[in-house]
Amino acid sequence: MKTEKYEFYHQSNIITLGNLLDDLHGVHVHLLLLQRRYYRIYGKYASFGRICSHITKLKKRTKPHWNQLPSQVIQQVAKRIHLGYDKFFDYLDEKAKGLSPRKVGKPKIKPKHRYNSLTFTQAGYEIEDNRIHIKCLKKWFTFWKHREWTGTLKTVTIKRDNVGEYYLYLTCENPEPTKKLSLTGNEAGADFGMKTFLTLSDGIKIGSPEFYKQSLNEIRSANKALSGKKKGSNAWYRAKRHLARVNKDIANRRRDWFFKLALRLVRRYDTLAIENLNLEGMKRLWGRKVSDVAFGEFSLILRWMCAKYGKTLLKAGRWEATTKPCSDCGYHNKSLTLSDRQWTCPDCGSSHDRDINAARNILRVGVPWT
Ligand SMILES: [Zn+2]
Repeated sequence: MKTEKYEFYHQSNIITLGNLLDDLHGVHVHLLLLQRRYYRIYGKYASFGRICSHITKLKKRTKPHWNQLPSQVIQQVAKRIHLGYDKFFDYLDEKAKGLSPRKVGKPKIKPKHRYNSLTFTQAGYEIEDNRIHIKCLKKWFTFWKHREWTGTLKTVTIKRDNVGEYYLYLTCENPEPTKKLSLTGNEAGADFGMKTFLTLSDGIKIGSPEFYKQSLNEIRSANKALSGKKKGSNAWYRAKRHLARVNKDIANRRRDWFFKLALRLVRRYDTLAIENLNLEGMKRLWGRKVSDVAFGEFSLILRWMCAKYGKTLLKAGRWEATTKPCSDCGYHNKSLTLSDRQWTCPDCGSSHDRDINAARNILRVGVPWT
């Protein structure tokens, strides 16, 4: 399976997609309230099949306007709720067995502004070149088709982001495999750092891009503008959207830079080794340093890029010492401090650059990332 993402043009009728999302939000709310009522009466939740037949009934009686909405999309709304309950019950089961799984809550009713995606399975749309026809709206929407998709189209998802832009996601089965890159015989370990973003074991250093500093200032001033507004006022909403826009622009610029850097690396090396960062922590971004989050994001992109082009990515265990040992003889330099950028090994006499030494150690202890 492979998913391609396309951005919709800013077109005047795009608001109708938003209206469709709002209508589906109505279905979402109705179905969740229904499940709660059902639980109060019967002490259990209604099955997916039961909900589907109930939807058919509703369309005939109290909700005739639901007939205007694509039926498969409504079914997907029900399916998401159903999957939500499945996950919740799996969590309860595991907890009952004495395991300690990650906490999963009951499916919640989403507020309207957070209800942001809809999925078509087989019917309800038609794609022609760079346009998609949404049948229930009787409208065509144009998107930036920057590349072809290959394989069999399975699902079509439309998403709205918090800046109010719309995207098309096409998920295809059996896409054409990518051509692997030719082997070069090079390998390198890589050490992340604040000033130099990456130091490679063969001595190449890649500095952090300027936008790290810029972005902090931009976010700070957008935050300041927001905090000066009265909550709920028009100006407040404008400032909030501006902050979201600033965040999105920065994330885009950063990701773009990451992809280009990762591609350069996989072109040059067959095997790359990186530090193991706590990627589970990536899911709970709050309270983490910007740099950590960025390194985590970059590792994921590099991992994806290596898999795509047939290169190998190794990672050094989290408890593995990589800074203090000498990469030539293994002597453990206990007296090394943070401010020592250069040092000479007292045992074998080789002189080291702190970061290059670390990168070489990372390559030495790296194991394949599964
Ligand atoms: Zn040594």
